[in-house]
Amino acid sequence: MRSDAEGLVMTATGSLVLPVARDRDLRLILEDYGLLEQFEAGEILCDHCGSQLSWDNLGAVVTSGEKLKLYCDLPDCIEQVSTKTD
Ligand SMILES: [Zn+2]
Repeated sequence: MRSDAEGLVMTATGSLVLPVARDRDLRLILEDYGLLEQFEAGEILCDHCGSQLSWDNLGAVVTSGEKLKLYCDLPDCIEQVSTKTD
């Protein structure tokens, strides 16, 4: 896990854990980026594999400046998060 990724936040499936009990925080993050409605409508896709994301399969949320990248909980996609630095 690289530590230079900015604002890296992951859910319980990752090694940097945002406890599941804090899903509310994820919700706030999504809201902050104006993505909450889209997310809940199933319009947000995993940035790596393109799977439709939901609260059930959301594996990681990465804030990168103005952008928010979301990944599903597949090991491959979580791997992307830990290796991406841009
Ligand atoms: Zn994925």
